[in-house]
Amino acid sequence: FDIRNNSLTSAEKEFENALRPLRFDDFSGQQKVVDNLRVFVEAAKYRGEPLDHTLLHGPPGLGKTTLSNIIANELGVGFKLTSGPVLDKPGDLAGILTSLEPNDVLFIDEIHRLSPVVEEYLYSAMEDYRIDIMIDKGPSARSIQIDLNPFTLVGATTRSGLLTAPLRARFGINLHLEYYEPETLTRILKRSAGILKVPIDDDAAVEIARRSRGTPRIANALLRRVRDFAQVKGTGRIDTAISKIALTALNIDQYGLDEIDNKILLTIIDKFRGGPVGITTIATAIGEDAGTVEEVYEPYLIMEGFIKRTPRGRMVTELAYRHFGRNMLGSNTA
Ligand code: ADP
Repeated sequence: FDIRNNSLTSAEKEFENALRPLRFDDFSGQQKVVDNLRVFVEAAKYRGEPLDHTLLHGPPGLGKTTLSNIIANELGVGFKLTSGPVLDKPGDLAGILTSLEPNDVLFIDEIHRLSPVVEEYLYSAMEDYRIDIMIDKGPSARSIQIDLNPFTLVGATTRSGLLTAPLRARFGINLHLEYYEPETLTRILKRSAGILKVPIDDDAAVEIARRSRGTPRIANALLRRVRDFAQVKGTGRIDTAISKIALTALNIDQYGLDEIDNKILLTIIDKFRGGPVGITTIATAIGEDAGTVEEVYEPYLIMEGFIKRTPRGRMVTELAYRHFGRNMLGSNTA
């Protein structure tokens, strides 16, 4: 059961889409980001211009796709969605760009994974709404210039550290999404339960929210699973008792830490005596990429107080030891 997995099945995607807020008013949390975007969107609409190119960065499942969709809805323009790895050749990009209506929003997910050639083409598209395409090969090869409709590029990335400087410089708006507070996740869960027409007790929503790793995608995925338990083993209503049974059966721990989170903590504890240890060393030990550990996993562990950064590297805290039923001297208290 891996709800962090980014490769969602089509049923899961459908489920996500059904719960996706379509307006700023339905989007909970990220108050500063939303307040700013509302102003920028209003101003662009007022001037009849495209919104400035916007970069959204932050861990997976926090609402980057959702927000870009909302931006298009609030602007009253069309929305096209693609992703870095899908845009294989400049021709793929040209095809999408030439299909845009004036002021449309083009959303490129995982924009840090664009190939360098495609990225190169994107520069002039973003800057001058124009692309130069090479046609033909050999002696008859020539480049033709294509004018594009003005548009807004919304780029999303979990790894903003991997963005090249020239690409980053072309975004006028640059926003970071943070993990959600349990209270906000509780609100999101209640809204989702309402859409799914499944009754949920306040306490149960709080319980699920606390174990959702600060992430709406995880909260909604857990809701879907808890609903199964409520309908098969309970009364159909999501109450605290059935939530606890479901979350235990799903192996979701008290903090909503997943397998990799736990692996990171246990590695620092067992292999490096609790640290300090460098991020690259940790990453190598668990077979992950250092940037992914730093930008995707570590921020939540730091926020929740399991890890702290020191000048000499990362250290686990007492909370991390307690989480595994140990004490800081390494002996088992459980
Ligand atoms: P990302 O693009 O950052 O990976 P998504 O935008 O796909 O994340 O969001 C994942 C799921 O979480 C979506 O189904 C969406 O409905 C839900 N979601 C994300 N943010 C919010 C929010 N602030 N309020 C309500 N639902 C949200």
